[in-house]
Amino acid sequence: MAGPVLAWSEKKDLLLELLGGGSSLAEAFGSSLKALVLAGGPEAASGAEELAKWADEVLLATDGKFSVPDSSVFASAIQDVARSEGADLILIASTRFGREVAARLSAKMKVPCMTGCTSIKVEGGRLLVERTVYAGRAIARQECPSLPCVLAVAPRAFERPATKRNGKVRTVSLEVPEPKLKLLSVKEKELKGPRLEEAEVIVAGGRGVERREDFAMLEELAKLLGGAVGCSRPIAEDRGWFPEWIGLSGRKVKPKLYVAVGISGAIQHVAGIRDSKVIVAINKDEEAPILSVSDYYVVGDLYQIIPALIEVLKRRKGQA
Ligand SMILES: Cc1cc2nc3c(=O)[nH]c(=O)nc-3n(C[C@H](O)[C@H](O)[C@H](O)COP(=O)(O)OP(=O)(O)OC[C@H]3O[C@@H](n4cnc5c(N)ncnc54)[C@H](O)[C@@H]3O)c2cc1C
Repeated sequence: MAGPVLAWSEKKDLLLELLGGGSSLAEAFGSSLKALVLAGGPEAASGAEELAKWADEVLLATDGKFSVPDSSVFASAIQDVARSEGADLILIASTRFGREVAARLSAKMKVPCMTGCTSIKVEGGRLLVERTVYAGRAIARQECPSLPCVLAVAPRAFERPATKRNGKVRTVSLEVPEPKLKLLSVKEKELKGPRLEEAEVIVAGGRGVERREDFAMLEELAKLLGGAVGCSRPIAEDRGWFPEWIGLSGRKVKPKLYVAVGISGAIQHVAGIRDSKVIVAINKDEEAPILSVSDYYVVGDLYQIIPALIEVLKRRKGQA
């Protein structure tokens, strides 16, 4: 029997996913499942009761210093809790901030850290982890050498929990160090439509889409399919048409349907879409790499195909 599985994320939805995966790990270890909430104030603490349904215990620490996103402060707090609870497996959602916290935490605790984990299993007492490597081109299967260890888990690697544990919330008091960072202001990203990670359908455009206004076609198609619009990195970063992109260095998505429009399929892009259920590509180049990772594709000019698709869908919906 190992020590508890301790899950923490700064994002409540991802913490819930960690509890989904953490539940079977706790069972395999014969141990308990605990969630940690580090709240900057009462508002941030408000979801703890709800989380407790899916954990054996929720440990809640509230301190104004957690309002500042200083990874060393969070790492220090998690270390204190991991030590006092005797946690053997520390699961952290692999967001940008989460990865920073995971790295600092493992260095402080002098324990192994594995990032980008897409699957974690216990087999014959061994902790086996799968991680994407080489920009998503390969999956490495690795054994965690010792416990305790810190695992940064990719968003959506685990499903949300299905079995209730009906635990309780326990307030813990921690010696929280002073943040070394000063928070000057917070500006929310302006996002239209559903978040890409949550969208069931995504229509994404790449450099094949020539003008910003041409994205109106993709937006119309996405609307008819009940989905969101995304893009490749050059569209967001170089052309500045969108605040975020899909891929290895951007959002990793897992929709039921991903439509890649005028996207070549560079490995960095494919790394972010490989968990999509069905990939459809529209590209005028029959040699484009995206075609080889697609379930269906159309070789042709997007400026003809997208309007034709919109027309068919509208007709089916009785809108034409
Ligand atoms: C460290 C690093 C990280 C990166 N991370 C990411 C990432 O997270 N996400 C990402 O997307 N990229 C990323 N990139 C960039 C990546 O390598 C590619 O440069 C990028 O994905 C290419 O974008 P694209 O497919 O839109 O453009 P292109 O490669 O230029 O492809 C455009 C495609 O449109 C097609 N096309 C053109 N006109 C039409 C038409 N009229 N009809 C139909 N098809 C048409 C062309 O045939 C072509 O296949 C990264 C690069 C590096 C070095």
